[in-house]
Amino acid sequence: MLDKRLLPLLACPLCKSGLRYDREKQELICVADALAFPVRDGIPVMLEQEARHWTPPPGESPHD
Ligand SMILES: [Zn+2]
Repeated sequence: MLDKRLLPLLACPLCKSGLRYDREKQELICVADALAFPVRDGIPVMLEQEARHWTPPPGESPHD
């Protein structure tokens, strides 16, 4: 589980914008770049080559 206190400190390595935390998938999402960065053992892996392409879920709910 990612330490939520880390979240404001994290930024996308590509565009430097803020990230969205998906706690179910354990991913940090850059909406602008449509990339999802993995969180492994609570450690965010902020590497473009580790990220997967992200698409917004249909009818996504703003539950944050
Ligand atoms: Zn980005």
